[in-house]
Amino acid sequence: MTKYYMPTKIIFGEKTFGELFSELREAKVKKPLIICGKHFISSLRYRVIQDTLPFFKLFTEVRPNPSTASVDAAAKMLNEENCDAVIGIGGGSILDVAKVVACMKNYGKSCESFYKSLRPKAAVPFFALPTTSGSGSEITKYSVLTTNAGVKKTLRSDKFYAKVAIVDPQLTYSMPPELTAATGIDAFCQAVESYWSKGAMPETDKWAEESIKLSYFNLVKAVKDPDKYVRINMSLASLNAARAFSNTGTTACHTLSYAFTKHYGLAHGFAVAITLPWFLGFYAEKNEKKCLDICSFIGADGIEDGKAKITQLLQQIGAPARLGEIGFVPPDVEKIIGMSLQHKPNNPRKHTRQDLERLLAELY
Ligand code: NAD
Repeated sequence: MTKYYMPTKIIFGEKTFGELFSELREAKVKKPLIICGKHFISSLRYRVIQDTLPFFKLFTEVRPNPSTASVDAAAKMLNEENCDAVIGIGGGSILDVAKVVACMKNYGKSCESFYKSLRPKAAVPFFALPTTSGSGSEITKYSVLTTNAGVKKTLRSDKFYAKVAIVDPQLTYSMPPELTAATGIDAFCQAVESYWSKGAMPETDKWAEESIKLSYFNLVKAVKDPDKYVRINMSLASLNAARAFSNTGTTACHTLSYAFTKHYGLAHGFAVAITLPWFLGFYAEKNEKKCLDICSFIGADGIEDGKAKITQLLQQIGAPARLGEIGFVPPDVEKIIGMSLQHKPNNPRKHTRQDLERLLAELY
């Protein structure tokens, strides 16, 4: 049996930002809470919002790897100001906060209680507009938050799906090269991880394949010499990766990434990508067909060539390819393994402590 679920209305294309206003009208929204990054406040599109919406409230206190505390603070504003919708305009961090806030109407407790049981009292509609091309959070049911205990943990619920996602590549034009690299490689990894996931199905394979090709062949130019066309292609790569991994989940590269982000401050996409070539080899021993497909999508001749091509991509976009580059030293082995032994059910192959020791030694 396969089961593909995507309840979000997806609007994609250049200059689609303005669709937000008709969607708000259609949903009879009177006073939305806008959660966005500070970079957006200085953009012309923020002026358009000011000129068009008679009432709205603004929340901008969200940092990368967002905290549950920032969700609670935004939810407080939603309730005190009696807002009737949430609009998230930003990267994965903003969108991950916004989708949880939308489920906290009249909810008196902290969102940390959702880790035990997700029972929102009421939800308001959530409108998602990504300004990076990478996380795909605009159409997923996941929210990755850093808890009060300092641990990055995923909440997942069908209630988190946006009512409408508006993916306007123009919103990504302002990304500097390093952000383009870190978010774009996240899209590539998510598509690869979806393709080799045990939860993959024909629908997700189709989106993942398209995304792998789009991101692999456009990312270097997007980082070094972006034009309108590569920005469009990277936005589509990100959206298509999410169309795939929203239903399959990600795999061990994501599990390990949280330790690299926590201990070395590595940007999310770079933290995921650094182990991708290694896992291509590891998973190929279990499911060679899927891994060979991935290699063929990027024009590689076999697994070893695929690993080399992905490593070369990382180097070309300025991403670290070896753990020594990020500050990892052999005595750190335990603190990485301690956070990474958890097994996602969709991993194509279980990794053991010994496998991770080998990974850390080989990638050092
Ligand atoms: P991000 O949202 O953390 O943003 C990084 C920085 O870029 C921020 O300072 C932000 O203000 C800035 N920024 C964003 N857009 C910009 C623009 N257009 N111009 C200039 N600056 C801009 O980055 P991200 O990679 O999009 O998101 C990463 C987060 O998303 C991680 O916490 C990750 O765990 C999460 N994530 C969630 C999902 C999901 O399905 N929910 C999937 C993948 C990743």
